[in-house]
Amino acid sequence: MSATTSALEPALEVGLQRHFIGGEFREAIRGGTFETLNPVTNEPIGEAADGTAEDVDAAVTAARAAFDDGDWPRLPAAERARILRQIAGAIREHAEEFVALECRDIGMPISQMRGLAARAAENFDYFASAIEQLHGRSFQSGSAFLNYTVHKPAGVAALIMPWNAPLMLSTWRIAPCLAAGDTLVLKPAEWSPLTATRLAELIAATDLPAGVFNVVHGFGETAGAPLAAHRDVQLVCFTGEGATAEKIMAAGAPTLKRYSFELGGKSPVVVFADADFDRAVDAAVAQIFTLNGQRCTAGSRLLVERPLYDDLVAAVAERARHVRVGDPFDPRTELGPLITAEHHARVCSYIDAALADGAELLAGGARPEDRPDGNFLAATVLGGVRPGTRPFDEEIFGPVLVATQFERYEEALALANDTSYGLTASVFTGDLALAHRFARDVEAGFVWVNDVSKHFPGVPFGGFKDSGVGREESYEELASYTQVKNVNVSFGA
Ligand code: NAD
Repeated sequence: MSATTSALEPALEVGLQRHFIGGEFREAIRGGTFETLNPVTNEPIGEAADGTAEDVDAAVTAARAAFDDGDWPRLPAAERARILRQIAGAIREHAEEFVALECRDIGMPISQMRGLAARAAENFDYFASAIEQLHGRSFQSGSAFLNYTVHKPAGVAALIMPWNAPLMLSTWRIAPCLAAGDTLVLKPAEWSPLTATRLAELIAATDLPAGVFNVVHGFGETAGAPLAAHRDVQLVCFTGEGATAEKIMAAGAPTLKRYSFELGGKSPVVVFADADFDRAVDAAVAQIFTLNGQRCTAGSRLLVERPLYDDLVAAVAERARHVRVGDPFDPRTELGPLITAEHHARVCSYIDAALADGAELLAGGARPEDRPDGNFLAATVLGGVRPGTRPFDEEIFGPVLVATQFERYEEALALANDTSYGLTASVFTGDLALAHRFARDVEAGFVWVNDVSKHFPGVPFGGFKDSGVGREESYEELASYTQVKNVNVSFGA
């Protein structure tokens, strides 16, 4: 299939997205396929192999053999680093192709996709450097013993990924797994299979040994679940919803797997009355209306101190009314379509719930006038959303900002923490001590002061509470994808 849906879209052949197992592209053993839809039109743009337990077993078997009998876990770190840098180079060389595939598959605006593709390459570069720094420790235990630790690869990893930024999020996991010497099976989300296959094609042309990196396409219940339960998988790296994480953990319990989970968020952007007004407005708009609002780090709750509330929320709403919604391939587009009609309906149900509860619609709330069909939604701002209601508490995962006011530091903190999530938080204030106090007290794994969104390879990223288990993008992540062996050497009798 190669039908383009936008005059601006580059011509791009999208054939059957096959599995990649043991260095070969394969159709599903049972022969099934499923369609992937264009979020702009909800029309099919390609097909992928519909993986089942048999395909998963073949992929895990290939990964197991590459781990047990192959070179990869035993290569010097510098050699693994060289191959990771090869992969980074291949992604950079084909960056525009990835950008086009991802825009087509998930409807992300092209202007924002370029940064994500660059970041995918950086992930490999960072972990190539990090693996050369990974070191064990030695312990002073008197003159009788020498005691030291070494990091050994953990084994076969299952990488089960979401649809919202597939290339960038999967490379966050692939790069450290490979750096650590693990072998892996990647299961991309069924709504976004395109970039995983292209990545496999590029990896196949590098020096990475066959069987180290495998891809199985398919649905959660039929491909994800058998992968999460497979007895030969030691480590499960999952990015997605908390409810899915619970199932994955239960499926792996009989074989005592290790987990790294990056889950949802309902992150607060907290603005105190002494904040830099324009900076806070810019940040609030950027943190919810970029990446189609489908971002785990979305600053989806705007909490503003009472004296500033009316003016700040009015300014954010005014900016929201000017967010350009449209064709993801148009470089001027700031907000593309939501991923599917089903997800669009789910996001809108939160707007309806907030309005039914007495919230005020300050911007958006429906499809824009010039986009009356499909999965488009105007940038939406809701004022006076009550804590304790679903729109305030739950992750909406779309371009919907809920705003609430507070009176004192204690109330700001209580509201910020009044959610089961704890991924990120932002605080805007001119008071340095207050900023640090808030950073200390807020229940979130990543806190921005007078800023939003920035994080870069090397700094640990992950959530408190229901937002996750483990830390990504960092030395901590690399170490967590290994197992530590302690050696105690006796000198004497
Ligand atoms: P999801 O949980 O529905 O699906 C994620 C993956 O799990 C898919 O590949 C799916 O096929 C698979 N899956 C579904 N059921 C399964 C099962 N029973 N066993 C094994 N695998 C199964 O999540 P999604 O809708 O694709 O992604 C959106 C969610 O991801 C949001 O909650 C978002 O916040 C979260 N997310 C978190 C981060 C982060 O870094 N914290 C980043 C991106 C997305």
